[in-house]
Formats: sequence, C-alpha cells, structure tokens
Amino acid sequence: MDCLFCKITAGEIPCKKVYEDDQVLAFYDVDPQAPVHFLVIPKAHIASPADITPENSAVVAHIFAVIARLARELGLEKGYRVVTNCGADGGQSVPHLHFHVLAGRSLAWPPG
Ligand code: AMP
Repeated sequence: MDCLFCKITAGEIPCKKVYEDDQVLAFYDVDPQAPVHFLVIPKAHIASPADITPENSAVVAHIFAVIARLARELGLEKGYRVVTNCGADGGQSVPHLHFHVLAGRSLAWPPG
C-alpha cells in the first residue's frame, strides 16, 4: 500500500520515534505547530477517523492511554491538545489515522 505512515511503521521512511509497541507508533511531526508536537498512529492501516468501527476501535482507546502515559513522561503537566483531522474540510493530509499531540504553549480555541 502506498501510505506514508505505513512506510514509517515498516521502517522504510525514518522518523524521530517517541514510543512504539505492538499496536502503535508515536513520532515527532516534521512540521511542528507547537514546542511539543508528535503524532500517535495505529500500526494497522485505518484511513481516517471515518473508518473507525466497533471491530477496529480498541486501538483508539489504547492510543489515548499511550498519550496519557507519554504526557506524564514528557512532563506535559500544564496540559496538551489531542487533534485528529478527518477528510478534506477537516484538514487531513495523510490518509492514515493519526492523533496530533500538541503542547508547550497556550493553544487558542476555537481553532481557525
Ligand atoms: P494531517 O494534516 O492532520 O493529516 O497531519 C499530517 C501530519 O503529518 C502533518 O502535521 C505533517 O507535518 C506530518 N508529516 C508528514 N510527513 C511526515 C513525516 N515523514 N514524518 C513526520 N510527520 C510527518
């Protein structure tokens, strides 16, 4: 499959890894939008949030548990934001489910 994040998961494209286990990979975003900006992805290909189903959704709960653990380990006690973009209007540019974790500055709300 010609998927950028599947290639990162397979080790075919390098990344700056934050965390990895059998189900998920976390790595720093190449175009950071905050002092701390990493992505957490399922290793199994799910194209977007619109493709989450009862059959494949367990990994999403796992991802949030991993994010909570990484936030503790990285000292993000002042807070952070988790974002997942869906489709063209949602601003999704990579068609492999991913959760942005942004921290290290006060983040505006609502987003533009
Ligand atoms: P989205 O626009 O929500 O689909 O987010 C995709 C994100 O992937 C963007 O923030 C990009 O900067 C990031 N990105 C693209 N290619 C890479 C890469 N090779 N390594 C790390 N992050 C990437």
